[in-house]
Amino acid sequence: MDFQLSEEQRLWRKAVHDFVAREIKPFAPEINEKEEIPDGLIQKMGLVGLLGMSVEEQFGGSALDSISIAIAIEELAWGDGGTALTVEAHNELGCAAVSLFGTSDQKKKFLPPVTSGKGKLTSLALTEPQAGSDLRNIQTKALREGDEWVLQGSKSWITNAGEADFIVTLVKTDPDAGSHGMSLIIVPRDTPGVSIAPPEKKMGAGGTHSHQVRFDKAMIPVENLLGNQGEGLQQTLTILDGGRIAVGALSVGIAQAALEEGLSYARERQTFGKSLKDHQAIQWLVADAATEIHAARLMVYFAAWLKDQGKPYTQAGAIAKLFATEMAERACYSAIQIHGSYGYSREYPVEAMYKAARLMTIGEGTSEIQRLVIARKLFEEGPLKLG
Ligand SMILES: Cc1cc2nc3c(=O)[nH]c(=O)nc-3n(C[C@H](O)[C@H](O)[C@H](O)COP(=O)(O)OP(=O)(O)OC[C@H]3O[C@@H](n4cnc5c(N)ncnc54)[C@H](O)[C@@H]3O)c2cc1C
Repeated sequence: MDFQLSEEQRLWRKAVHDFVAREIKPFAPEINEKEEIPDGLIQKMGLVGLLGMSVEEQFGGSALDSISIAIAIEELAWGDGGTALTVEAHNELGCAAVSLFGTSDQKKKFLPPVTSGKGKLTSLALTEPQAGSDLRNIQTKALREGDEWVLQGSKSWITNAGEADFIVTLVKTDPDAGSHGMSLIIVPRDTPGVSIAPPEKKMGAGGTHSHQVRFDKAMIPVENLLGNQGEGLQQTLTILDGGRIAVGALSVGIAQAALEEGLSYARERQTFGKSLKDHQAIQWLVADAATEIHAARLMVYFAAWLKDQGKPYTQAGAIAKLFATEMAERACYSAIQIHGSYGYSREYPVEAMYKAARLMTIGEGTSEIQRLVIARKLFEEGPLKLG
């Protein structure tokens, strides 16, 4: 058993860490206050290879292994949770859908413009106003008319939709065929009949925007279908398996940043004649957070490793997502507790970290859905084993 990162992975971690320390972390308060990421940041991310992480090099990507992708998302979230989610959804949802299920022609057409950092992102649109966890119940339809799909319906909470070049959309292509009548279609955002509402007003995570998307007789060429008609739900579950590893990594990054803030504040603040770091109750808070962060990171890297080995990783990914996302909230809670009243102030970064962490148990499958997945896999395959 080897717990060492490879030389390439170490260099990649350092490169992304330095990039985030320079271009994102110093601006995190402004990003969360203005709910905007700095001008030109997406372009810069493209130049360092953060926008096509799982995309093959011939289509403009950096073709990284899953551990390297987890490392990058973790480092981005160490800088700012919302910005990391923007990058995560672009890579692991929108780009991944085309990378995994696109034909060579689809990849050639759709991926290079969004991996190079020309300012365009991608989205995956699954959720609807009346269906999130229960995707079998979506209502958006795509009915074939000649050489086109005609889309009608609406999606909600679609991350990056406002800046997306294309939105991979889950639709019913055969409304009477239940879960076998669903398909994924690549919808160019500028298609007539596609309208994007202003960003949702969220609790936090100002570096990411989610929108309602309406399709009103939007006509999409038949060749934009991903894979075969009727495979959309299965494709979606495969995409989400990968996304969950990334959301786990994102949560580890936020928790790591919160722990570092807690440690630094505990060194500075004095109460009852001694430094906070010398009170045992405070030591327990940081010790517990460090222990849980370490456990979560190992779970995330293990799931990523399974994925790279071509082994089943659904259970490991769901376990990593469940534990890491719930852990991040506890780590941020402790960091705020260590800061006392200052932790509740927007002047200190832990307030924004807590609000970003709160999202992670909801997006890309809630904690309840992770538990359903884990339990199903336990009865099908038995508990996870090493080796
Ligand atoms: C900031 C943000 C960004 C997002 N980005 C995207 C995106 O890019 N693309 C996209 O498609 N969606 C996106 N979403 C939507 C997100 O994926 C859904 O909110 C999530 O899947 C939950 O769906 P829901 O909100 O409809 O909750 P519901 O499915 O209505 O669930 C409500 C509650 O009931 C629980 N529950 C539901 N079913 C069960 C069950 N069978 N057993 C036990 N408990 C259950 C849930 O866990 C939850 O606690 C985003 C959401 C947010 C907040």
